[in-house]
Amino acid sequence: MSLALHILNFLYPPRCAVCETNFGLDARRRVCDRCLSRMEALPTPVCERCGGPLESIRTKEVRCAHCLKSPPVFARARAVARYRPSDEDERQSLPSLIRRHKYGLDQALGRAITEFLGPRLPFTADDCDLVIPVPLHRGRLWWRGFNQAALLAAEVARRLERPLELGTLVRSRATGSQTSRSRDERRRNVRGAFAVRRPHRVANRRILLVDDVMTTGATADECARVLLAAGASRVEVFTLARVL
Ligand SMILES: [Zn+2]
Ligand SMILES: [Zn+2]
Repeated sequence: MSLALHILNFLYPPRCAVCETNFGLDARRRVCDRCLSRMEALPTPVCERCGGPLESIRTKEVRCAHCLKSPPVFARARAVARYRPSDEDERQSLPSLIRRHKYGLDQALGRAITEFLGPRLPFTADDCDLVIPVPLHRGRLWWRGFNQAALLAAEVARRLERPLELGTLVRSRATGSQTSRSRDERRRNVRGAFAVRRPHRVANRRILLVDDVMTTGATADECARVLLAAGASRVEVFTLARVL
């Protein structure tokens, strides 16, 4: 540990970003073990395509009803945590952190959120050539003014040792809030909302698309659609949390 970090930690004693428990002076982390462990896992088994819950484990079916009815354009989506949209999960550490993060430009909270990745990243370097964040969702409540997805994508790219591609997938129009919309309405709402600048950057590349939270997957699917139309060979989706 460097002397500079020691002095910094002495002047500003490091605390857990969620519960504010004090860390020791040699801490490098921003979230304590207890808060990390309070992240709710997704129910298993999951749909092999979208990563959502399977209705029944008795039917031998490996895809959920949504994917059987209208399969997504992306090849596979995975998340590491469950996110309940209401306040009922206030005791869950990750959602409360994501909600707090939306109110400010506190980079430290962004860093704390990436610690929730833990060792769980369900993709390897063999899965992708490029990492691309979903462009800013301006209507979404918890990240107004700050692109959470880009921060997370940077950490994923660093871990996988794959390039982070920013500014290639862009939002071509605002879509407003998705929160009160049905699955079909969400799909229609994001239709045509994204565009690929510099298509040669994604041509024949396997893309790992990164977002903080997935709800119905409509946004990820629309991003995947324009990436594939621009020549990408495959699109997979990683989100930290998934609304269920
Ligand atoms: Zn804590
Ligand atoms: Zn599915």
